[in-house]
Amino acid sequence: MIKKCVPVLTEQERLLLQHLADGCEPGELGPALGLSRAKSNALFAGMCDGLGSPRNPAALLAICYATEAVQPPDLLDPSDIAMPAEEQELLPLFAMGVGEHDMAAQLERKRWKVNQQAKNVLENLQVQTRAQAVHVAWQYGIVTATAISEWLEKGDSEIIASNLQPPGLGPVLYIQAREGEAVDTPGRCARRADPAAAMPLLSYWDQAADDRDARGALWARASEILSRSGQPVGQPLPGVHPARQSETMRRQRCRVGFCPARLEHTSGHVYLYLVTKNQRRADGSYRTAQPPVCIEHALLCAESEPRFQGGHTALLVTASNASGVLGTLYGPLDDGLNVAAVGTDQEFHPYADRDRLRWVLASRLVRDLTSYRVIDLRRLVREAFRTPPAPTSRGFR
Ligand SMILES: [Zn+2]
Repeated sequence: MIKKCVPVLTEQERLLLQHLADGCEPGELGPALGLSRAKSNALFAGMCDGLGSPRNPAALLAICYATEAVQPPDLLDPSDIAMPAEEQELLPLFAMGVGEHDMAAQLERKRWKVNQQAKNVLENLQVQTRAQAVHVAWQYGIVTATAISEWLEKGDSEIIASNLQPPGLGPVLYIQAREGEAVDTPGRCARRADPAAAMPLLSYWDQAADDRDARGALWARASEILSRSGQPVGQPLPGVHPARQSETMRRQRCRVGFCPARLEHTSGHVYLYLVTKNQRRADGSYRTAQPPVCIEHALLCAESEPRFQGGHTALLVTASNASGVLGTLYGPLDDGLNVAAVGTDQEFHPYADRDRLRWVLASRLVRDLTSYRVIDLRRLVREAFRTPPAPTSRGFR
């Protein structure tokens, strides 16, 4: 498939590539080059055939950069780019000319989601076309000569797609803390009289209305860096982002992508939770600080999250309640004004214990899963995706 000898491009061919990199649609190439539509189509097709590219503008451009048939664009600082990992994963597939149907199959995502993410990519990069997105992604090192050369040699975009996720680290979660998000230190908390209860309680010096949840727990503060589509963008770090975790858990959204996690085709509110044996309590309920997962991300989590190395149990949960928070207990110092941590990090504090809760800085919302059915996850996923994915093929966009 790869051409041993890269043909020297004509001035007109270089100009065509330049227009593609600038966001020109295939149908606009004729007027842009001063050619008839038929002649510009023939020029494009001839280039694709000559360079061993599928007849896809993004793939043609990527191959020309990888083979240096034209000078690739200069590289830019990748820290300047703000795009969720799940959306970045689409860019190498754009560059291999993979259509949405095959992208969905290769990334094991639903078609509507890939559709939306493809739109988000163009919006995030502020580009018009996938070819232009590949041009920008090249500058940020998201599409590389190595990946394109490997694809050309092996002739299989699926090999590249399967290598996008680093092994052993589990999926990158929406609730996960990210590089660049600053956590406010507990040192900013102080003892303060509660005007309603005339009782001292833990508080920020500059307390804001949304620092407490509806049930009175004070939450750890952390800044957020989100993409235009509302997804976190920095490199994932250990630990969770308090606000993202609590919102995801409160609304029972999927912890991987904040996707709707309420199962389709079921009556009532049914959510899929993955738990471990040690989360089971004496009364048979499960207590967890891990939000549910959508059907699409369920196998990914079950098979790759490190906490499931000892196995997992899949539950279809029909009743649950937010029972408390994980957080740090504080106590007042002798000066009657300042406070210090007295408990260990990430202890469970129930909402029912209101006296204790006044001195807690919460960082995770905890849910007790009280009514559920244990299910076979593989069977559930199989039934949800009855239509087998079509075989991979490369097609014109
Ligand atoms: Zn999900």
